[in-house]
This record gives sequence, structure tokens and C-alpha cells, in this order.
Amino acid sequence: MANDKAASLQFLGAAGGVTGSKFLFSHGDDQVLIDCGLFQGLKELRQRNWAPLPINLSRLRAVILTHAHIDHSGYLPRIVGKGYKGPVFATPGTCDLLGVMLPDAAHLQEEEARYANRKGYSKHSPALPLYTVEDAERSLRLLRPVRLEESVEVIKGVFLDYSRVGHILGAGSVRLSFQLNGQKRTLMDSGDLGRYDRPILKDPEPAGNADWLLIESTYGNRIHPKESEGELRNIIKETAEQGGCLLIPAFAIGRTQDLVYTIRKMEDAGEIRPIPVYLDSPMAIEATGIYSRHSAEHDFEMAQLSNHDRNPLRSRNMVLAKSPEQSKAINNFKGPLIIISASGMATGGRVLHHLKHRLPNPDTTVLLVGYQAEGTRGRLLQDGAKDVKMLGEVIPVRAKIKVLDGFSAHADQGEILRWLRTFKKPPRMTYIVHGEPPASNMLAEVIRDQFKWKVEVAKHQQVAPLV
Ligand SMILES: [Zn+2]
Repeated sequence: MANDKAASLQFLGAAGGVTGSKFLFSHGDDQVLIDCGLFQGLKELRQRNWAPLPINLSRLRAVILTHAHIDHSGYLPRIVGKGYKGPVFATPGTCDLLGVMLPDAAHLQEEEARYANRKGYSKHSPALPLYTVEDAERSLRLLRPVRLEESVEVIKGVFLDYSRVGHILGAGSVRLSFQLNGQKRTLMDSGDLGRYDRPILKDPEPAGNADWLLIESTYGNRIHPKESEGELRNIIKETAEQGGCLLIPAFAIGRTQDLVYTIRKMEDAGEIRPIPVYLDSPMAIEATGIYSRHSAEHDFEMAQLSNHDRNPLRSRNMVLAKSPEQSKAINNFKGPLIIISASGMATGGRVLHHLKHRLPNPDTTVLLVGYQAEGTRGRLLQDGAKDVKMLGEVIPVRAKIKVLDGFSAHADQGEILRWLRTFKKPPRMTYIVHGEPPASNMLAEVIRDQFKWKVEVAKHQQVAPLV
């Protein structure tokens, strides 16, 4: 049979860790890359971004993205810069978000290279960016939007469909269907699994079926606390009463919109008094516009609120800082105030200059609302570091550091299991990906225990034959 080709899967990222998602599906001589993410965090991980391409571009026929987060999409301009010209499939929401995210990521890469050259701290002379803004622009021209209800043939004999997973706008799990030994087989990658009953976006859909399943495990060993909104309310109240600064490093996409939505809800309910909220991230500002426009993804409450004469994604007293000058001017403002700025793990972006300015001040509270990967400044702060290095200086930490896990965009163990229960029959094999080892190992154990499924924790570069 023409379509009956040998198939395999190789884990080129997000195996043994949470970043660099890249799963290479081989079908005969053709290859499809599911996600094309950047490694982030520890230096040894980031160095993988600079290693020779792990993919033979002459065989790569298609790239499929589960969602727009940089650890799933941010390596795309690198392969495009090296000559990839094929299609990149993604949902319409993801395509729109990438339009702001990839140029921004490229801009950061270029800035980092310029900075390294100025300070002379690169081993290479001159230091080059991993990719350029032009590579990012070229990547965007390769995008092929795929609607959630659609099925498209990505290479001959291999069909793609998405199903909704919450998480962030446009996020989907990816299912590939193809013939093997005369039978229809399916490979599914959960992508980043979102949560149930969260604001703004619809809940994850039932998964359906898969012969081979890749399941993320970021919080495979954790249960999110229920009372995160109440905690946020108390922290904001305290900030308002004490005239302090609440500095929130937040992912521009998803987390920022959740926070602003929740703050607005609490203001409208009279639970907190409106204090200035500075949204200091051009990307977050643009992403918020994209969130508002994609009304088909809104859940019932968001749709209802949007129908009235107000914007649920804007707090009562919100200031948008677009230019670098507006961003720097925030340093002069005394509290009470809230600053929401990217990046979410304090690995780069404008939040660094806010941290540099506010960390030495005991009137500041730094609130970590997302997963802080190993090796990031966010993780150091979370672990109680007394000082952190940033922008070439050692900054003492005198601010209060608080952690709120409940705003995570990732399913916790219970929510992962809830999604897995929607499978009509057990996959032939389930691979645990996208987790640090304790989380992945624990999830594997629980699935074996409760579901009796065949489960394996994926290893970096491991090849799994699909037979
Ligand atoms: Zn994600």
C-alpha cells in the first residue's frame, strides 16, 4: 500500500524537562516536526539551541505547532534561518499570537547579541543572534491556519486535527492519523494541557482516541491550590493599604489576561479598590487585543461580560506602557501600584529593569504566578535567593517574594487524569513528556496504578518505533 510506510517518533526536546518541545514524526522518508520550541532555563539546556540542527531539513516536510508559547514555537525562526521553507500548521489563534511573539523573541535574541558584544562577555566574536527579526518574519509567512474543527493532510497520507485544551488562546492537542500495516493509526500530542473552569477560555475538550499518546506532565506531581483568587485579593489589599508596589512577572500571553480579568472582576465586585495597574509589555498589550478578537474561544462568562459596555480584559485604572520611555517612567511612581510585566520567569524583557529597581525595596512584593523553570531568575527568587544577577549587576533581594500556583495555565495531576479519563480505550503506549523528572515519574506511576496503561517516561533523543 502506498501509504503504508514505517513510522517512528523521536523526542528532541521537552523530554526530561519542560522546555524545547520538539517531537519528530517520521513516515517513510518524510518527517513532520510537532512543535518547534526553544530550550530555556539552565545554561546547558539553552546551549542546545546552538547545537547543530537536530533535524535533517531536506526530509522535513511540515511543522505543526500546538500553541504559541516560545518553548513550543521559538525555535522555528532558527530552522527557517537555516533554510526550512515548508508549511507550518497552527490554529488561527496561534497564528495571530505568533505574529507578535516570534518577532519579539527575535528582537530579544538580537538585543542579547548586541549586549554581549558591547560588554564583551561572549566566547564568540562577534556574538551572533540565534535568529534575526527577518527570520521570524519569514517564519510567519509559512504559517497555514487550521481551524479546530478541520482536518488537513499535512504530508501525503498523514492527516492533522486539533482539539481544544484551554491553556492559552489557540492551544490545541495535535492528532496525526495515518495508515500502518493496513490499519488507521493515530498519534496524539496533548501539547500543554490547560485547566477546567478557568476564566476567559473554554474548557479542554474530551480527547477521543490515540494509539500513541504524548502527555505533558509539568504538574504531574502537584495539585493546584483552590484559593488562589482569595490570596491574590489579600495581596492586592495589602499593597493598597501599605502604599507598596506589587510587581508581577507574567507571561505576556495567557497569564497576563487571566490576572487582569481577575483584578477587574474583584474591582467590579467591590472586593478591592482600584489602584493603578501598569501593563508594561507591548506583547501583552497586543496579545490582549488578540484575546478580545477571538470571541469563538471565549467561555460563557467572558462572552456575557463582553456583551456589556465594558472590557473584561482591562482593569478600572489601567495604564498601558508601550514605549521604553513609558516603561522607564514607571520607576518614578510610588505605590500603591501594580506592575505586570514580562517575561514570566524573569529570563529577559522589561520585567528585569523593574526587578532591578524594586527588588532592593522592602515595600515591594514580587508575585510569581507561573511555573518557574530550573535555572531561571524566577526560580532563584522562588527558592529564596538573597541576591540575583541581572543586567550585569548583583541585585540584593529585600522585597517580599510570594508564589501563587493557582494561576497556572497547566493542568495539575487531577486535571491531567480527568482529561485522560476521556479516552475511550487505552493508548497502545503513553509517553510522558514536558516535565521535570520528579513530575514525569510520579505521573507515570499514577497512570500505571489507576489506569493500568502502558506508560514510559520519554528520554531526550530517544527514538520510539511506532509499530
Ligand atoms: Zn504553553
